This record gives sequence, structure tokens and C-alpha cells, in this order.
Amino acid sequence: MPDAKTPLRLTETTLWVGHMTPGSTTIVWLRHDLRLADNPALSEACRPGDPVLPVFLWDPEGEGEWPLGGASRWWLHHSLASLDEALRAKGSRLLILRGPALETLRELARTTGARRVIWNRRYEPASIARDRQIKETLRAEGIEAESHNGSLLCEPWGVQNKSGGPFQVFTPFWKHSLSILNPGPPLPTPTRIPPPGRWPRGVPLEELGLLPRIPWDAAFRASWSPGEPGATASLNSFLAGGVLRYSEERDRPAHAGTSRLSPHLHFGEISPRQIWAAASQAGARHGVPDTAWKGWQFITEVGWREFAHHLLFHFPHTPRLPLRHEFGRFPWRSSPAHLKAWQQGRTGYPLVDAGMRELWTTGWMHNRVRMVTASFLVKHLLISWEEGARWFWDTLVDADLASNTLGWQWTAGCGADAAPYFRIFNPISQGEKFDPKGDYIRRWVPELSGLPPDWIHRPWEAPPEVLGRAGVSLGRSYPRPLVDHATARKLALDAYAEARRRAAAPAAASP
Ligand code: FAD
Repeated sequence: MPDAKTPLRLTETTLWVGHMTPGSTTIVWLRHDLRLADNPALSEACRPGDPVLPVFLWDPEGEGEWPLGGASRWWLHHSLASLDEALRAKGSRLLILRGPALETLRELARTTGARRVIWNRRYEPASIARDRQIKETLRAEGIEAESHNGSLLCEPWGVQNKSGGPFQVFTPFWKHSLSILNPGPPLPTPTRIPPPGRWPRGVPLEELGLLPRIPWDAAFRASWSPGEPGATASLNSFLAGGVLRYSEERDRPAHAGTSRLSPHLHFGEISPRQIWAAASQAGARHGVPDTAWKGWQFITEVGWREFAHHLLFHFPHTPRLPLRHEFGRFPWRSSPAHLKAWQQGRTGYPLVDAGMRELWTTGWMHNRVRMVTASFLVKHLLISWEEGARWFWDTLVDADLASNTLGWQWTAGCGADAAPYFRIFNPISQGEKFDPKGDYIRRWVPELSGLPPDWIHRPWEAPPEVLGRAGVSLGRSYPRPLVDHATARKLALDAYAEARRRAAAPAAASP
């Protein structure tokens, strides 16, 4: 017996058992799932064979405190164009509308007679609140509204520790996730996406104004191919080679040692289930069991993305507030000049400056350097992690509320499974260890390119003749260090001790 949702196929006719109106349009609301393959909402909408209306809604207010940053807007523009092209190849297209999501969806359902709206879930607090309201309102009006998991291996509520609560440490979280998850094979791309009889009038993509008015995006265009084909190509080329060297190369910022899939994953141009399946196959091809396979570390990093979503879902206040309460009263400094020097890559510490310039130029920064630059802001300059998270949010093409919050709170020492506050990254030794020849510095800080490896990470200590030969004039062609490392380290530790004292004070005062 089919269940209430299963259509019975009778030659050309589809007889619906249950609640669906035969032949009525289904709206698929696409957001962070800009792909056709392994898209549960889209596959579900196409299943009965009735008309499907794929729609993207531009609703910046609906994003709450985190409307899309400049770099992400650039990515989104190109990703939507790519999705429209892919839909057209399937006999459909992407309808773009602008306005508050609830009202726009209701109006769209009214004008098209759609009886069903389907989407894949998002996990940011503002999205959860908005989606809940939309679901309730549509259902109250007799329109089916359903959501699917299109972007995680495990739902955040599906992974619980022994006490039934959320995990706060990665290793047990991931161990437990691996013991329960069963991603299954990815869903195929629908062979046909039946179009509606008449297309409602949409907004041309250009009218969303996502591209910069001042064309700062030349290097973005050279660095990235937003869209599902670009995501698939990146995954395939990484699995064909780089993945086997991943554990040795992933910390070398001068090398292309990581997958660079993060913006594709954020916008859902590829799903973690597709990555899991493709990586498992690649592992099997190498004739080793999965976890023994050299590329397993790569899957573990995808696990960190799962962990980030788990944390954001269970601790939705963390984009604004530290998870660890003693950091709530940390004596952060306000220094607009230091913040600007950090943002512009002019701190006088070559590894920090190289990272910040890579970010500004390409919209991405290597993970090792993200940790060093973030640590420098928070611990050397004592500027709040929130300032840094905002800057990354605006400049990263992969800006993701879950991963960015985790990354910043981890580095600042105030989040889950965080590096202890007193572990202060040394930007000089990090550079010497992970960029020993200085190739990364030469690429992004060309004014230091003439310096030999011995001095390139500490130009202020180089003998005058070495600087002269390299054409470096400190304070002119390249800044002197904004702060002294040893002094900054001591001040950071003092500030941390002060924060702990402040956090303990009210408790000590109470009877
Ligand atoms: P790979 O090494 O190839 O890893 C594969 C995938 O695993 C990545 O695409 C990403 O989705 C996931 N991943 C890897 N490392 C992490 C991690 N530490 N946390 C969560 N997911 C991870 N990542 C974002 O996607 N968006 C952000 O906004 C973001 N902000 C960050 C801020 C800070 C301060 C720090 C320290 C890290 C941040 N990260 C963020 C995590 C990480 O730096 C990037 O995911 C990674 O550099 C992306 O490069 P890749 O795709 O080549 O990664």
C-alpha cells in the first residue's frame, strides 16, 4: 500500500492519494542549496511529475544581524546565474523575486495556485525563526510546507552526548557522528524539471545589485568558478591528486594543498554527502579501508563543518556572545588605527599581512593563516573577536555563520573545544614553520620579495645591508611591527587574568 504521500502511477495519469492537488505547481525555494544534484527539496518536488517552480528570494532583512557581505554577494550573483543556466538545460529556469520571504512566498502561491512549498533547511538562528513562521503560516492557509536536510551529514539534533545534550568537544562529537551516520548515495540530478504553464514575472538578476559598483573583483574572477560545475570540477581535481598529500600539505599556505571547496559548500553548490561518496570511492580505489586512507583527514575537516553547525544550532547566541562566560567581561581595546592596519595587511608581521592581503584580493584565506591572523587581532592587538568576525564576514567568499563563529571563538579561546587563551600563536615562528622559504610572503607582500628566507618573517631584525640589497626600507616600503611580540604576549596574558578575575568577582561577592 502506498502511504499518504506516494503517488500511484497509472499510465499517463498520476492519481494522488491524500492531500496533494493533482497537477498543481510545487514551489522549490532555493537558498543555500544552489545545485541540481543531490538536492532533496528539488528531487522531492520533481517526483510526482507536476509543474515545479524553482525560486530564489532576495530578502536581506530576513538574514537578521548577518546580511550577506560584499564578497558573498559577488559569489551569489554568479552562482545564481549558473543555477539558472543549469535549470534551463532541464527545461526550467530560476525565478528571482525580491521581498520579505513569507509575504513573497504567499503571494507566489496565490498567483500560481501552488499548493506545496519545499525547501532545504538552514541553521542560522534568524533562518530558523523565519522558516518556522513561514511553515506555520503556509500550513494554516492549507498550503503544504516541508523542509529537508540538504546541507549536513547529520542533523544537529540527531547527534547527542551520553546525557542527551549537545557536544562541545570535536573528537567525541565526530566519533559519535561516525558511529551513527549513514549518508547513503547522493540523489541523482532530476532528468526533467517540469515547468509551470506560465512563468510569473521575476526580477532580473542584475537588479539585485550584488556585483560591486567599483570593480574590485578582477582577482575573484581569476580565482573562482562559482556554481555547481565549478564545485564538481574542484572536488574531482582535488580527489584525483591533492587529497593524497592533504595531511602533509594542508598547513602550507604557499601550496594548493586543500580543496578550496568552502564557498561551494556554503552556497550548497555541492553537498557534504556528495563529498563523502566521492571521497569514499576515491579511498576505495586506493585499496584501503576508509579511515586508513590517507585522504581521511579531509573528511574529518568536513566533520568540523558539521560540528560548527551543531554548535550554532544548540548555542544560537554564539555569533554575538562567547560560549565561555569568563570572556563576557574581557577587557578588549578599541583601536581603530590598529584594526585598520590589520584589515589592510599593514601590521609589520609578514605572515599576518600576507593573509589579510590574500583575503582582500581573492575573498579567501588559507586555514592556517586564518588562525594566525585571527589570533594576532585578538591576542596581540587585544581587539575583540567580534570585530574580526565582522571583517571576515564581509570579505570571505565562504563567509558562513557557523564556521566563522567557531573559527573566531576557537582562536580567541572563548568557544567550544577552543585553543586555550594562553596559547598565543607566534606569527614569526608560524611563518618559519609553515612557509619556510617565504614563498607565501613573496606572493602577497611583494615589497619583501627580495629578502632571503632567514629574514623574510622578521624583517625588522635583518641587518641593514640585507634590507638594502632587498630594497626594503622599514617604516617606508614596509611597516615596522605594530606591537612587539613578547610585550604583546605578556599584555594578552595579563588581560586574560583580569577577565578571569572579573568573571569570578560577582560569584565571590555573593553569600
Ligand atoms: P579543506 O581543508 O579542503 O576542508 C574541506 C572542507 O571542510 C572545507 O571546505 C570546509 O567546509 C570544512 N572545514 C575545513 N576546516 C574547517 C574548520 N576549521 N571549521 C569548519 N569547517 C572546516 N570556514 C568557512 O567555510 N567559512 C568561514 O566563514 C570560516 N571562517 C573561519 C574563521 C576563522 C578565524 C578560522 C580559523 C577558520 C574559519 N573557517 C571558515 C574554517 C576554515 O578556515 C575553512 O573552512 C577552510 O580554510 C576552507 O578551505 P578549504 O575548502 O580548502 O578547506
